[in-house]
Amino acid sequence: MKRRPLVVANWKMNKTVPESVDFVQEFLQFLGREPKAEVALSPSFTALVPVGDALEGSPVALAAQNMHWEDSGAFTGEISPIQLRDIGCRFVLIGHSERRQYFGESDGEVSRKISAALREGLVPILCIGETLGERDYGKTFEVIERQVCGGTEGVALESGSEIVLAYEPIWAIGTGKTATPEEAQEVHRFVRGLTASVSGAEVSEAIRILYGGSVNPENMTAIMEMADVDGVLVGGASLVPDSFAQIVRSASH
Ligand code: PEP
Repeated sequence: MKRRPLVVANWKMNKTVPESVDFVQEFLQFLGREPKAEVALSPSFTALVPVGDALEGSPVALAAQNMHWEDSGAFTGEISPIQLRDIGCRFVLIGHSERRQYFGESDGEVSRKISAALREGLVPILCIGETLGERDYGKTFEVIERQVCGGTEGVALESGSEIVLAYEPIWAIGTGKTATPEEAQEVHRFVRGLTASVSGAEVSEAIRILYGGSVNPENMTAIMEMADVDGVLVGGASLVPDSFAQIVRSASH
């Protein structure tokens, strides 16, 4: 089964609106004609609408970094899936390790968000990954299984293309330390096996599993060569238009 590579930028809490729009203009020039890989940008909430406008007519999709699970209501400071869909978002990151670590997001909340995103026709990108301590104690697979099964509890996947998984070892995020391609492949393979046991082999073969953690234009090619790595989620290196465009080009090969 051939899965189309997906490259997603996570800008986190960076860039003003003018900086975000400038990025899009430069990035689209570097990108050139339609890439083979699918591409998405996740700016801050304040820049979603202007970035969406700047991407109009381009092959690049809009993604949000988080959302609430309810469609509307008394949830001060939150954004709903309906509001994200309304402004043209296609993807939404769910359960990023920074959300889990700094905002206490549990697997239960993550699963409510995943269900809500699917209900509203957004493609959730479920982020999973172990800490360095968990890896050192040999708990990687246990943690990953808990996050994948907990995060998708009650979710019935029909084709596999309605969700994306992103394996991001926490010790590799923003540290300059990447998992080796083999370490990434080992976990991706395990994740695909988990999804096969829950949703069946056909769905599991269609699910894209991204790698994230200090990806840059230099280490990108080796990571993408792994059989179960279907793309990347990029933080730091996605803030610079030409380095992000280089990453998209490597994913397209
Ligand atoms: C991320 O936070 O999703 C990420 C992968 O960050 P970085 O590329 O900076 O490690």
